Parts: sequence; structure tokens; C-alpha cells
Amino acid sequence: MLTLISIILGAIVGSFLNVCIFRLPKEESIIWPGSHCPHCNKPIQFYDNIPIFSYIFLNGKCRYCKKPISIQYPLVEGITALSSFFLFMKFGPSLSYLFYFAFVAALIVITVIDLYHQIIPDVISLPGIGVGLIISLILPQITFFNSLIGVLLGGGSLFIVGTVYQWLFKREGMGGGDVKLLAMIGAFLGWKAVILTILLSSLVGSITGILIMALKGKDFKYAIPFGPFLSLGAVISLFWGQNIIDWYLYLNR
Ligand SMILES: [Zn+2]
Repeated sequence: MLTLISIILGAIVGSFLNVCIFRLPKEESIIWPGSHCPHCNKPIQFYDNIPIFSYIFLNGKCRYCKKPISIQYPLVEGITALSSFFLFMKFGPSLSYLFYFAFVAALIVITVIDLYHQIIPDVISLPGIGVGLIISLILPQITFFNSLIGVLLGGGSLFIVGTVYQWLFKREGMGGGDVKLLAMIGAFLGWKAVILTILLSSLVGSITGILIMALKGKDFKYAIPFGPFLSLGAVISLFWGQNIIDWYLYLNR
């Protein structure tokens, strides 16, 4: 029963995340006005705003103007619902579940906004650092010291990489947004997870970059945003970080 509630809660939060994704980059209020169709501006009724199901019932089209609704909406709702479910399985009914769900929800918003706009909004990452530090005082999963070192290591390491890159190539390689995001990841997950996140995101990012260049040609100049890879690395660290570290130590006995 509680598991079902965690899925429903996840889908409802996902619906709210869609609003954040759409409005935060435009610096619009995320509370008011209510949802409306971006094509015909008609307000969306509550019965057309049911996460995932409304998209299916409406066949992916606006009820009024029949223009397509972005697949982003049901995708974000579905991914958020699944995240909530898996976090609930991991942490059970606890504060840890609520805070780590908020953390993953922030990563989902950051990922989609970074994919669209190549920015990571400070309004998420900066308060995220503070919240992560404060909850480390409450949660059994992490100590305050670990969280603090995580922030310093996360912010510091990417800052150094970015500065050296800029000095060598005279252009910005690593955005300031990535630095603040990794500091936030450090605040929630601690310093070991920061190292693991850097390794995982560099690995997956490089493979993706090579694949895109293979498909689109070597001259492909589009900068691939790094935020989604950092977020993915953080989620893998959150769920399997300790297993990966144990496995690595086992191999290197
Ligand atoms: Zn419409």
C-alpha cells in the first residue's frame, strides 16, 4: 500500500517538475498561473492533468487545439514515479527517503533544463548545497564532516579542471553550473560519491561523445551538456556506490 503511494506521489511530483523545467529558465513563477497549453493558451483542466494517464487518454494531443503535447511530460512523470519507488524500496518510510527523493527530483529538473538550454539554474544547485549540508546533521546515511568534504571536493575539483582547461585552450570547457552541481552532489552523498560520480560521468560522457561524433561526423561542434552525466553518475553512486567501491577494493586486495 505504502509502495503504491510512493509511486503515485512520484508521479504527482513529476508533474510539478515539468512545470519547473518549463518555467525556471524563463524565471516565471512556478506557482501561478496554473498549467496551460503552450499552443492555444487554454487552461488545462484538472482531469486533463493526471500524470502519465492524461497523456495516454488524450493521445498526446491538446484537447482543444489538437497540437502535440511534448513527450517530455509523461517521460518526466514516469521517471520521477520510478525514482520514488526505488528510493522507497531502498530507504523505506523515513526522512532519508523524502530527502533523497527531493535530491533526485532536483537532478531530474537539472538534467532536462541542461539538455534544452545548456544551463544549470543556480536556484536549484545553490540551495541544494545548503540543504544537503543541513540534512547531513539529521540523516544516518551521512555525517556532516563527510558532507562538507563532499562540497569542497566537488566544487574544488571541477573548478580546478575548468580553470586549467580555460588557461590551456582559452575557452570555457567546464561551466560554473557543473561546479555548483557537483558541490550539491557532494553535500548529499559525501566525498567518495564525488570521486565515483566524476569517474562515472566522464566515462559515460566520453562514450556518448565518441558515439555522437561517429554518427554526426568529427566536425560536430555542438557542446554536449555535462549536467545530465553528472546527475546520472550521482544516481548510480546513490544506489550502488558502496557496492562499486567494495567491488573495487575486492579486486585490488
Ligand atoms: Zn492547445
